[in-house]
Amino acid sequence: MRQIQSVYINGKFEQPHGTEIMDIISPIDEKAIAQLTYADEVDTKRAIHAASKALEGFQHSSKEQRKTYLKSIHDEIVKRLDDLIEATMIEYGASRERSKWSNLLSASVFLDQVSVLDNYSFEKQVNESTVIMEPVGVSALFTPWNSTAGSIAVKLSAALAAGCTVVLKPSEFAPWQAAIIMESIAAAGLPDGVVNMVNGRGEVVSKVLMESSEVTKISFTGSTVVGKILAKQALDTMKRVTLELGGKSANIILEDAELSKAIPLALQIAFMNNGQACIAGSRLLVPESKMKEIKQLLVAEADKFKVGNPLIETVDIGPLASSKQYHRVQEYIQIGMEEGAELLYGGLGHPAGLDKGYYVKPTIFTGVNNSMRIAQEEIFGPVLSVITYNNEEEAIAIANDSEYGLMAFVSTSDQDKGKEVAKKLKAGRVLVNTLKHDPLAPFGGYKNSGFGRENGLHGLKDFLEVKTLIQ
Ligand code: NAD
Repeated sequence: MRQIQSVYINGKFEQPHGTEIMDIISPIDEKAIAQLTYADEVDTKRAIHAASKALEGFQHSSKEQRKTYLKSIHDEIVKRLDDLIEATMIEYGASRERSKWSNLLSASVFLDQVSVLDNYSFEKQVNESTVIMEPVGVSALFTPWNSTAGSIAVKLSAALAAGCTVVLKPSEFAPWQAAIIMESIAAAGLPDGVVNMVNGRGEVVSKVLMESSEVTKISFTGSTVVGKILAKQALDTMKRVTLELGGKSANIILEDAELSKAIPLALQIAFMNNGQACIAGSRLLVPESKMKEIKQLLVAEADKFKVGNPLIETVDIGPLASSKQYHRVQEYIQIGMEEGAELLYGGLGHPAGLDKGYYVKPTIFTGVNNSMRIAQEEIFGPVLSVITYNNEEEAIAIANDSEYGLMAFVSTSDQDKGKEVAKKLKAGRVLVNTLKHDPLAPFGGYKNSGFGRENGLHGLKDFLEVKTLIQ
């Protein structure tokens, strides 16, 4: 069986000190495809030590040197794109198209940080003082299983651009993709110890990282529950914190929207990445007066999504990532029915002919009230809750009535109106008539969706400490 690398310390892949072995199961057919030996506390301490030693030199590296490293990592990831795409489909279940897009992005964000550095000065004059931006130090990067390469790349590119050294703790549930990224970084020729990886149980590895006073920054992408635990622990050693957490994003279809465009877009927004996307627009807010037409369109458009084995080119929605995810989504579909929502499309169980593997039916509930659990809680699967409104004000109020605030979406035939509504929405990013990603613009959430921003200049600044020099 393929053995996945779990430990990279001081420029070398190593046999972990930890001994617990986990089978990696493909969600496509529930078969074991590989094994991971978990890193443990000893591995983590060694990784922190390596990052601390490497910081002594790397924090003083020049912008030009760091740009060379970033470009080199980009090139090495591009060389491994086919491997990454294969791993993303087989280990995680993403469609081929999604796998391509997300892994290409994980390469290009390293070049984005090169362009940020081109335009950024680490020193500037403020009144009578010089303000110097310095690397925050050894940074612990925590990433989830639903966006492995992308999350690692966004954090790592910014940390390296800033001059920080890193201990990466990727999700133990997507280790194959993480190992390929780590192999690409290893091939890029950075000084030993600048990037280290320890992959093991979240609570085991995190405990050591969080207790260490040598780690001065954490950048975490994952669930709100775990993010809050780490943020509280971070206070003891006053680590700087960036949190990218969950979401329950609203997608408002305004009265004037062209439904033949807005509804297909709404389903893409809800079902992207098999519905396992922090940014999924999982609450669809529609005008009550148009509900009849909207229902018909939703069913017709949902029928166009092909669910199945992601290795098949034409498949749009692959299996969910794990048995746990499958059961979680089933539970929420059951909850929706018990709460009295109307099942418009999909429902419980596997889609016909897909009994093996963690496939679920893309599901649409109508008649949803925003106080229902299916409207408030992050389901993390292809399940859409449709809520009606009677006027624009009410639509905005429903959209903002959420503990989350990561994204929001608006469909309208009037771009100015879209902007006006966007300004009233409590979300870190609002997309009007599009599902476009802008990798250089800030990304992050309001409220329980986290704090701090990633990407581009904002991402870089989150890895910098401010020093004022008065002479
Ligand atoms: P998770 O919180 O379970 O795990 C994230 C990371 O934390 C992993 O590396 C994991 O090993 C570690 N971890 C898990 N439990 C831990 C514990 N008790 N103590 C310390 N560390 C622990 O999240 P997940 O299930 O991997 O990812 C899904 C979640 O991530 C969803 O809520 C999703 O919305 C969110 N997410 C957010 C963004 C964003 O940018 N805002 C992007 C992707 C995913």
